[in-house]
Formats: sequence, C-alpha cells, structure tokens
Amino acid sequence: MSIEKFSVEKVLSVHRWTNTLFSFTMTRPAHFKFTAGQFARIGLKVADDLVVRAYSVVSSPFDETLEFFSIVVPEGAFTSNLQHLQVGDALYLEKVPYGFLTLARYQLPLPNDLWLLATGTGLAPFISMLQDFDTWQKYRKITLVYSVRTATELAYVERIQEIAANFGEGHTGFKFVPIITRDPEAALHDRLPILIENGQLEKFVGLTFNPETTHVMLCGNPQMVDDTKDALKARGLTMNRRGEGNIAVENYW
Ligand code: NAP
Repeated sequence: MSIEKFSVEKVLSVHRWTNTLFSFTMTRPAHFKFTAGQFARIGLKVADDLVVRAYSVVSSPFDETLEFFSIVVPEGAFTSNLQHLQVGDALYLEKVPYGFLTLARYQLPLPNDLWLLATGTGLAPFISMLQDFDTWQKYRKITLVYSVRTATELAYVERIQEIAANFGEGHTGFKFVPIITRDPEAALHDRLPILIENGQLEKFVGLTFNPETTHVMLCGNPQMVDDTKDALKARGLTMNRRGEGNIAVENYW
C-alpha cells in the first residue's frame, strides 16, 4: 500500500452509541470530493503497518468535515484499534472516494419512490444521501428502513428526524421504519427478506414495490443483501445495470 495515496487527517470528535458502535468525525482535505453514498478508505497505523478499511461516508458532500459510523469487530485488526480513537489522533485517508451506490446511477425508471434498506452500520450512506436537497426534490416518497438486533443499536434516530425536518421541510412522503429483530414486541421484528416476502413491510409503509417506479438501495450485512435482492427480484424488480433497473447494492463488509 503506497502511503502517497493517502493524506493524514485529524480526528475531531468521537461519539459512542454502545460498547460496539461508534461514530467519528475527521478533517476533510479540499481535494477529497465525493458523491453521497460513496465510501472512503481509511488507514490506521497498527505497529508499523498501515491497515486500511472501507467506510461509507455519513456526512454530506457539502459538509466541511467527514463522518463515519463503525462497529467494533471482535478481534478485528482494524476496528479493535480504531475503537480507542481519541480527538486529535491521526488517521490516513485515501485521496479518492469509491463506490457506485449513488442516486446518480439511476436513469430508468425515473425517480419516484425511493426505498433505502439498511442493516447495522450499512445505514451510513443513506444518512449522507438524505442530507442532499436533491434527494428530497427528486423523490415523491422516501422510505428509510433500518434493521438492528436490539433497540439500543438504533443509532442516528434523532439525527434522522432532524434531517427529515431540515432537508425534507414540506415533503410529506418520508417514512422512517425501524426493524428490531430480537424484540418480539417491536412493530416489525422479522428480517427484511421475510418482511418483503410476506408483504408486511409494504403494508406497514402503505406503499408497494413497483418495477415501473421503484428505486431500492440495499446496504449492510452481505447475506441480507443477497437474500433481500432475491426477495425483490421475486416481486419483479431488476438489478440496476448501466442506469436501468430498480435495485442497487453495497455490501458493508
Ligand atoms: P448484523 O448481524 O448485521 O445484524 C444487524 C441486523 O441485520 C439485524 O437486524 C439482523 O437480524 C439483520 N440481519 C443479519 N443477517 C441478515 C440476513 N441474512 N437477512 C436479513 N437481515 C439480516 O449485526 P451487526 O451488529 O451489524 O454486525 C454483526 C457482526 O458483523 C459484527 O460483530 C462484525 O463481526 C460483523 N461486521 C463487520 C463489519 C466490517 O466492516 N468488517 C461491519 C459490520 C459488521 P438478526 O437479529 O435476525 O440477526
């Protein structure tokens, strides 16, 4: 890994949601331009090695700083060190962003109803997209679905409400739908593919998946992405290729 590909940035804040979930912000160099939904490659010096991982950007392309959302992977070389991050620490940032989970990839069908389906830290790119006025102008309906194991893992809920109030002011088609899979009392507690197969998600939201109008993005657990993709295809939706089709995906690890 060539170190010249990276700039050295400084940690500005760290927010701990739970023992295993945290967010951090860092300085953003002027050269780092990205589109909402893209990811950055962040490096950490572990002993003498530079260990690098991909992180979707939480902040919007218009923000002066960069924000990221992370889980502590047990015994993971990167996150087990990253979790001890403190304000003022140095982090390496690869100079260019990556990824194609962006709204710009959709040409057909035209934007109408947008479903953003996340598990865990896969929420990150969607927070970025929702902080772009363009998203709110383009889509008549926006549904953000966020699946976690327990209610304590529901990070960013207040931020989501603030974003909807600020960026979506006057927009009447936004719905935030938490799924808490290990709480049988939760309004929605089955995994995403099941909720799609049995129609419960659409019923809850009051909107159906429609190959003529729907854009759906998936981000998070790779098995969730695969299984949900299959459930959506069974409903007639297609993978977005060269601009055409309904489904776009990103595995989060
Ligand atoms: P997770 O297992 O991804 O669970 C988050 C949500 O996704 C839960 O609601 C879970 O439901 C659901 N889910 C899991 N598998 C699914 C599937 N096949 N279809 C539909 N929904 C599914 O939990 P996490 O806490 O975010 O991450 C768990 C572990 O993943 C971490 O401990 C870590 O080892 C690894 N991870 C690694 C990275 C990385 O960057 N390397 C990033 C994130 C996570 P259930 O409650 O039913 O399982």
